[in-house]
Amino acid sequence: MTVLERDVEVPPAGVDEIWGSWQRKGVNQFRLPHFFLARYRSLLQAELPDVAEALGAAGAISLNSVLSAPEQLRGPARETDAAFECISGRRCVVEAAVAAVAGRSPRLEIRRGVQVAGLVAGAAAHDGVPHVTAVQLASGEEIAADLVVDMTGRRSQLPRWLASIGARAPHDELDDCGFIYYGRHFRSASGEVPPALGGFLQHLGTVSSLTLPADNGTWSVTLVTSGKDKALRVLHDAEVWERAVRSLPLVAHWLDGEPIDDGITAMAGIEDRHRNLVVDGAPVATGVVAAGDAWACSNPSVGRGVSIGMLQATVLRDTIAATGLADPWEFARSFHEATAEMVEPWYRDTLAADRHRLAEIDALIAGGEYRPADPAWEASHALASAAFKDPDCLRGFVSAAMVLEREADVLSRPGMADKVTALGAGWRDEPIPAPSRDDLLSAVAGG
Ligand SMILES: Cc1cc2nc3c(=O)[nH]c(=O)nc-3n(C[C@H](O)[C@H](O)[C@H](O)COP(=O)(O)OP(=O)(O)OC[C@H]3O[C@@H](n4cnc5c(N)ncnc54)[C@H](O)[C@@H]3O)c2cc1C
Repeated sequence: MTVLERDVEVPPAGVDEIWGSWQRKGVNQFRLPHFFLARYRSLLQAELPDVAEALGAAGAISLNSVLSAPEQLRGPARETDAAFECISGRRCVVEAAVAAVAGRSPRLEIRRGVQVAGLVAGAAAHDGVPHVTAVQLASGEEIAADLVVDMTGRRSQLPRWLASIGARAPHDELDDCGFIYYGRHFRSASGEVPPALGGFLQHLGTVSSLTLPADNGTWSVTLVTSGKDKALRVLHDAEVWERAVRSLPLVAHWLDGEPIDDGITAMAGIEDRHRNLVVDGAPVATGVVAAGDAWACSNPSVGRGVSIGMLQATVLRDTIAATGLADPWEFARSFHEATAEMVEPWYRDTLAADRHRLAEIDALIAGGEYRPADPAWEASHALASAAFKDPDCLRGFVSAAMVLEREADVLSRPGMADKVTALGAGWRDEPIPAPSRDDLLSAVAGG
């Protein structure tokens, strides 16, 4: 297997050097806060235990969202609680650990500083549908492949590449508005990470906060806004951002550390996008598939991208093992079906939640309340509320948040929906620990 990577640099040795000097221009979110969920940890331990070990050696943090909750909330520890364990760190530290293990894998060739510029088609394998047999590099070199996997991320150029070999267009769904991220990393002198007074992700009126423990006594604080919220675009200014964070009572203490980046790292244009290479039941091309963010990307504040990408990678491997590549048409359809069944539901759940959250922010900015007629949205909020009142609801909530079990499946466990309704249906009446919109804008303005 050959990996073709446009960025030139290998990760330097040493965590401080990785943070301080590793250039990864190919990944816009490289310097933005990341967290890696329990599903990723469990996939790593099952599939790539060397990476899990390398992460531990690099100072990655291990934590368990259920076991770290107060005992009066979670009840006695259960044997099954080990499933909630996460291993996490700054994106660059985690990526360096993956790259180090990949770099010593005997059947993997990694070519860096190599830009893929297009696809090369050979003889069709099925009814005149273009069949990809190679990629073309920007240098003009062609590299032959039995299968090309597009993993070029959120800004993948695959539709353009497919058009240039005469393929039908894939079906792209792109939402026209997304979120903006404003994040910063910190480090404590003691190596301790501030205590979580709420969830990692909290929806606090028209902003959401992300407070993520990371490796080696570091952590990150992020404010997430709607792309349409022009009044908060000033958050890219470090002083303004700090004033906004200080106005959030459950978040402000996360500022008590030494900032380790130069200022606020902001990223806009984070829309949900899904790409389907099988249109009306027929692959638009054979010999090529899309995976990871090149296939689908969604709101990163729920921290699912890497878990979903890793899950899809195992589905790809299993499909190759089960179907083989000898019949490219059959393979393309099988991978599409397996992705649709095992991976896409996670994307769809995230997309539905994103659309609600963006509409909720719009309603709150307009001074109204958000009351969509969607029982799934109500149930989701009720489960989040019930998680603070009942050990089973806590575990159900964390299972869904950690990409272990879909929320709909959690809610269909015997007795769960009734319990969630009894404990959480009044979630709208619970106070939100955040300033009003006017007070937030006033804090931002320095008032
Ligand atoms: C702000 C933000 C925060 C996020 N936070 C989290 C989080 O907390 N947890 C989580 O799980 N996920 C998070 N995500 C999502 C996560 O970053 C992605 O899901 C993940 O990086 C996708 O991996 P990938 O390999 O598909 O693509 P990428 O990581 O984008 O990698 C694509 C690679 O392709 C290379 N490339 C691009 N074009 C070419 C070309 N033409 N030729 C050769 N190489 C090329 C790039 O250099 C890059 O190395 C976040 C995303 C964003 C935007």
